[in-house]
Amino acid sequence: MLNQEAYALGANRSCIRELFEYGRQRAAIVGAENVFDYSLGNPSIPSPPEVNETIGQILADTDSLTLHGYTTAVGDLATRKAIADDLNRRYGTGITPNELFIGCGAAPELCAVLKAVTTPGAKVLALAPYFPEYKPFAESAGAVFAVVPPDVPNFQIPFDALEEMLTQEVSAIIVNSPNNPAGTVYTEETLKKLAALLAKKSQAFGHPIYIIADEPYRELCYDGITAPFIPTIYKNTIVCYSYSKSLSLPGERIGYIYVPRQADDGEDLYLAVAGAARAAGHVCAPSLWQKVIARCTHLRPDLCAYDKNRRALYDGLLACGYEVAKPDGAFYLFVKAPGGDANAFSEYAKTKDVLLVPGDGFGCPGWFRLCYCVSYDQIIRSLPVFAQMIREYK
Ligand code: PLP
Repeated sequence: MLNQEAYALGANRSCIRELFEYGRQRAAIVGAENVFDYSLGNPSIPSPPEVNETIGQILADTDSLTLHGYTTAVGDLATRKAIADDLNRRYGTGITPNELFIGCGAAPELCAVLKAVTTPGAKVLALAPYFPEYKPFAESAGAVFAVVPPDVPNFQIPFDALEEMLTQEVSAIIVNSPNNPAGTVYTEETLKKLAALLAKKSQAFGHPIYIIADEPYRELCYDGITAPFIPTIYKNTIVCYSYSKSLSLPGERIGYIYVPRQADDGEDLYLAVAGAARAAGHVCAPSLWQKVIARCTHLRPDLCAYDKNRRALYDGLLACGYEVAKPDGAFYLFVKAPGGDANAFSEYAKTKDVLLVPGDGFGCPGWFRLCYCVSYDQIIRSLPVFAQMIREYK
């Protein structure tokens, strides 16, 4: 007997993957240069050269058994210490290695944390627009997933709607800043207001409401903006971090979870996260990559190429007459669909070989996402097509 929920997840390909596959098929027919594919968030700037150089050094100076052997499940102490030191330098915190768990990227880290902070039937909130995988992650943990409607067009936090949804059963809220798909960064003021509201409700309900900070894009901010480090604003914050985007390593599967001891039930919470990861089959994060990260925590992405793309696409679309959310971070642009139906507009755009992702799957109908980790040339050549589409679309 098959598990029907698992089957449904496997059988229904995501809309983003469908578009990406469609783009490959079209490229084979009309040529890759004639397909303007904005569907998939795959980093397009190379990792800093020090990453590969470090791999060479590690291969040269580490014996093979150590290099390829299991590490402890929570991760090498040297790696956790290096990450703690880096965070403490940047945020003035006093994080210790015992509060860090080295994971295999934000996706499995989120699954472990969601499992750790929910009992069956507990509710997890996400703020629209949100990363669509949150829903299966939360539901497979046995939680009820609910979405706070978007704060259009600023995409900060709609506090009245959120307060109404903060009921006794809510055990966590997922906060993703910089945001996929809107590119917005929650301001310190917004986060302080969120912290005050959650503290008030936690006290009223007699249990903590945790923030699960999903932060694969933390360092991807522009115009001098920095994403606040949420644990310094709200003590019951668990951070799921990933090097997939910040060091352009999405296929290597490496990141970490920060579970503050100062959080309510902090010590037990850490053990629950470790236990949830164990139950999902986590043995350890890739040993080589743990060793690389231990020597590379100081590296930051060179955002010049993304920033150039962001400006060109944002300014170009505004000039064509599109309404676009102000993109302060990540590598996505969120755009209001002409005519109001993003699915219909996406289908129309396909006829021009422009691939854009409707916002419905992100909990924000009527908008679409463009992923601008593409070549600058693609952006420049696609702008006349965007101009034509908004002119001609009925
Ligand atoms: N969270 C968000 C908001 C993302 O956009 C992604 C990937 O695109 C993930 C989590 C998963 O990232 P990882 O590669 O670290 O599992």
